[in-house]
Amino acid sequence: DDFHIGKAYGLEIYNPVDAAGRFIAEVEHFGGMNIFDANPKIVEFLDESGMLLHSEKYQHRYPHCWRCKNPVIFRATPQWFISMDEKFGVPASAGSDDKPLRAAALAEIGKVKWHPAWGEGRMANMFKGRPDWCVSRQRSWGVPIPVFYCCGCEETVADPKIVDHVADIFAKETADAWYARPESELLPEGFTCTKCGGSDFRKETDILDVWFDSGSSCVAVLETRGETLRFPADVYLEGGDQYRGWFNSSMSCGIAAHGSAPYRQVITHGWVVDGEGKKQSKSLGNVTAPQEIIDKSGAEILRLWAAAVDYTEDVRCSDEILSRVVDAYRKMRNTLRYALGNLDGFDPAADSVAEAEMLEIDRWALASLEIVAAKVLKGYTDYDFQAAYGALYNFCTVTLSARYFDIIKDRLYIFAPRSIERRSAQTALYGIADSLCRLMAPLLAFTSDEAWENLPGEREASVHMAEFPAATRLDEAAESELLSRWERIFAIRDEVLKALEAARNEKQIGSSLEAKVILTTDKPTTMFLMEHFTELRYIFIVSQVEVHEGEPFAVKIEKADGEKCERCWNYSTRVGEFENYPTVCERCSEALKEIETAAAA
Ligand SMILES: [Zn+2]
Ligand SMILES: [Zn+2]
Ligand SMILES: [Zn+2]
Repeated sequence: DDFHIGKAYGLEIYNPVDAAGRFIAEVEHFGGMNIFDANPKIVEFLDESGMLLHSEKYQHRYPHCWRCKNPVIFRATPQWFISMDEKFGVPASAGSDDKPLRAAALAEIGKVKWHPAWGEGRMANMFKGRPDWCVSRQRSWGVPIPVFYCCGCEETVADPKIVDHVADIFAKETADAWYARPESELLPEGFTCTKCGGSDFRKETDILDVWFDSGSSCVAVLETRGETLRFPADVYLEGGDQYRGWFNSSMSCGIAAHGSAPYRQVITHGWVVDGEGKKQSKSLGNVTAPQEIIDKSGAEILRLWAAAVDYTEDVRCSDEILSRVVDAYRKMRNTLRYALGNLDGFDPAADSVAEAEMLEIDRWALASLEIVAAKVLKGYTDYDFQAAYGALYNFCTVTLSARYFDIIKDRLYIFAPRSIERRSAQTALYGIADSLCRLMAPLLAFTSDEAWENLPGEREASVHMAEFPAATRLDEAAESELLSRWERIFAIRDEVLKALEAARNEKQIGSSLEAKVILTTDKPTTMFLMEHFTELRYIFIVSQVEVHEGEPFAVKIEKADGEKCERCWNYSTRVGEFENYPTVCERCSEALKEIETAAAA
């Protein structure tokens, strides 16, 4: 800051300390003295000269070396800079297309997609406020600054043609050629100083800032691997500290090389902290090492955890959190298992039921899948893996496990294998399993692939070679009507399940199939329920349902009428009516007839 103020007021740039930390010889009284040794002597000198008013010791912060903790001092020394506001030594002219670095970067930052969105403002502020980029470092080895000085007249040779010449040598011999070869072998043959005609040169000994190395990686990697990569990169992904580091230096290098940002999108993530939000450290013993998690629970669990957390902030990880992820994983895996288990013998090409002929609840399941697929794909597109995970998890646990699978179990086990009712459910299950494998593939790479291999029908060798499910339903109005109708049914079902639970607790019934549900409800709801009347007993998983118009809404549970069917455990007054199958209900009698006919054929 002293330097900038001095510069602003036209003061001479003055540095009285040499590279060894001693006052230079010209400094009166203290020349050659180490500055820390000189400090008390300066106080003494001021005192003796009668110029010291007061002196006392007090504690204050002081910059120090992060490694050896020694105090450091700031010296004004000649360095190489990349100018933020001048191009070829000329300040920015308004409206010019040929913008200097700062203006160009600010324009490019606006074109990049930032995840999370606040990244844009953070990056813009970095460029608005930053000083010129000091790219020289005084180290004995690194990527050299390819500049020469004329020994005759001290003219600096910083010519793009010379830089290219040196770069060609580096391409063959690496940058170590700078150290291995004399100046004469690094310069083009017969090169002479444009100012004095001399041919003796001295090479620069400073090296480049390592951020210049990483910043130029975008150009070095993306361009030299043109077969598989291209400039700009689709995504840069790193921790939030890289707004100052890699994102920043890459932006500058990208603009220098191509006049544009080196990335289309930038994603930043927080740090892993423990279950209480505390920083993980070995001494606290709260570190969750990725390899340990993989050894204990598998890579799927670690990946699923990473998807389940909000990575835009610091993310918590602990054994307890991981055990919840394991739980979620089991539920998602069981969903696939259930579907696969019920697709045994199903040939999608021959056995699928056309959508128009499917049972309404099966069409509802497929419409729900469509909604979930859209959410998951939007999550992936936005790099919002938490949203994708959440949509999949809810679909598996609520929509499928607690509702759909529960309800179709009866149909899958009881109806004749070739019946349209059973094949309708299988058609939906097949569509669900196929889509879920594709949608889960990025999060559950192995589990989804294993399920994929066990799905019936012709398919790619691996789910990772297959595409995401495409949106197939075009009639959005009909779809949303279907979904809201079933939301209404499930709301009533929730009330029925509560009443059944209460009846079970009071030992009035054991299994819900022992129950008859008597619903009393208003006229519109009665009309609505009558449209679905034949399905209601399956939706509620009871043997009989009655719907009566009346107020207020009530659910009454009674013992089901008739006898228990030996095959499906539903109660029916018709058990015993069928000569060939005296212990089963009318539904099972039909199914058994069909199964026997098929077996005889
Ligand atoms: Zn040090
Ligand atoms: Zn010269
Ligand atoms: Zn039965």
